[in-house]
Amino acid sequence: MPTLSNALLSAAERAFAIDLMNIWPGNLGGDDLQECAIKHGLLTPETRHAPCAESGCACAELCFPDEFDSGITCFRKTTLLTDNEE
Ligand SMILES: [Zn+2]
Repeated sequence: MPTLSNALLSAAERAFAIDLMNIWPGNLGGDDLQECAIKHGLLTPETRHAPCAESGCACAELCFPDEFDSGITCFRKTTLLTDNEE
């Protein structure tokens, strides 16, 4: 087993991990993960009236076209996640 030193994780990373692990050993669902990611600034909810079709966004696949008329909540990755993407 690898040993993780506290120094390897930032306070923010630890807070996110601790929040997620508080659910365990229950059933961690996508909603839990999403809620946790929003709380810790990894995702930000935005209202959209058209599929944004950007990488990592699932609103185009998850929502029906008529739902965009009234606006849907799209969860966008924040720079905390996208800074490491190319
Ligand atoms: Zn979207």
